[in-house]
Amino acid sequence: MKKIMIDLDETICSPSYLEEVNKYMHTNYQYEDISTYFVEDIIPEEEREKFLDYFYQNVNVYDHAVILPHAIEVIEELSQFYDIYIVSAFVDKRRVDESSIMAKYKYEWIRKNLPFIDPKKIILTGSKELIQCEIKIDDKFGNLKGYGEMKLLLDHLHNRKYSLEELEERGVRRVTSWLQIRDILLGGNNNDLS
Ligand SMILES: [Mg+2]
Repeated sequence: MKKIMIDLDETICSPSYLEEVNKYMHTNYQYEDISTYFVEDIIPEEEREKFLDYFYQNVNVYDHAVILPHAIEVIEELSQFYDIYIVSAFVDKRRVDESSIMAKYKYEWIRKNLPFIDPKKIILTGSKELIQCEIKIDDKFGNLKGYGEMKLLLDHLHNRKYSLEELEERGVRRVTSWLQIRDILLGGNNNDLS
């Protein structure tokens, strides 16, 4: 069985970072307004430390995380044919100690929403490049480094800056939905987007 490494944030679900920033800032930013990887980069620098204090004391962004369309059902189907690992980073370099709580939140969310995943295959790490999976699915281009026969980059505004040439150079293919991922990994008639 081939192994698939699947990222969590913005690959399986969207945690409510933007909603929390909007609540805190009294703004109404939409996802289309944000092209940086970290949503909170829209907070003025002088406010950011205060926001992080508030964030780590009050917020679980997985309480209202939104599941990406078809993600769960496709992963469940894939799990019959592939060995699935959910791999997610949790250490916030700005708050190395406080961010330990994110490991708990992520683990709890995965257990609740992906109960068919073996808990031993939930890997919380900042060193994804060490994971030796044949197939990798992530929304962050930098996480698709290293070993891998097939690397799928889930399309998001923040990763559109990478050109087709850059992706090809690293053997990465851009995909736009979980249904497309399903077609690629399980076959199907709709596989004409390559
Ligand atoms: Mg991600």
